[in-house]
Amino acid sequence: MRNNIVAGNWKMNLTRDQAKMLVEKVLSGNCRKNIEVIFAPSFINLYKIAKMCSDHTSFSVAAQDCSANKKGAFTGEVSASMISSCNAKYVILGHSERRLNFNESNDDLKAKISQVLSNNLEVIFCCGESINQRKESTYFDWIESQLSESLFHLSKKEIMKVVIAYEPIWAIGTGMNASPEIAQEMHAFIRGLLSSCYGTKISENISILYGGSCNAENAQTLFKQKDIDGGLIGGASLNSKNFLKIINSF
Ligand code: PEP
Repeated sequence: MRNNIVAGNWKMNLTRDQAKMLVEKVLSGNCRKNIEVIFAPSFINLYKIAKMCSDHTSFSVAAQDCSANKKGAFTGEVSASMISSCNAKYVILGHSERRLNFNESNDDLKAKISQVLSNNLEVIFCCGESINQRKESTYFDWIESQLSESLFHLSKKEIMKVVIAYEPIWAIGTGMNASPEIAQEMHAFIRGLLSSCYGTKISENISILYGGSCNAENAQTLFKQKDIDGGLIGGASLNSKNFLKIINSF
């Protein structure tokens, strides 16, 4: 059985006090049981937020990125082992903001995935097409290449440590979410790819999240879709009431 997951990607938002306050409010709110909730703060808040979540079994934290290198002279970088030592569970990799603003390639991500998995962390792997790729109908090929070039070398055991987040770039931060039908079509396609590479049983056990202007109003119809197992939430995860509503949308 795959998990239903709601992950909040805070991006470069929230000071220490603001982060603490938000997490306190969410932890003390009413959350549906059996939903895995993930906070993805900036690196400097990782340890603190992980500590706050430590007594709450369904809550955990994710880093928003990590270095492709193990250790050494890489000023400003944060390694997977450092993230692991903060008691994080996941690392988000391949977010379109990192692909576009920091030129991360599928090969770079492959190296980062290797670091994450060898430090007993799990991956939230983002993929998604641009508006032009959507208009030109090349989006299935694009998603397939993102997945096959970064992920499909993994063993069956390793791929089970990966959550996939489908995040069409045209929907991120725009207020224009993919319709449930469009999102479901892509999620089914991704699950089909997983099934071809790893078999049906494994593909049915991997969570695929939707991201891109998912909010308290549209989460329910998105999460109702057969292959949508939750969301990676940006803007709406910064407000405790909205985030709680999304968590309770299953
Ligand atoms: C994201 O950046 O992962 C995201 C989904 O952002 P938003 O929800 O703000 O569109």
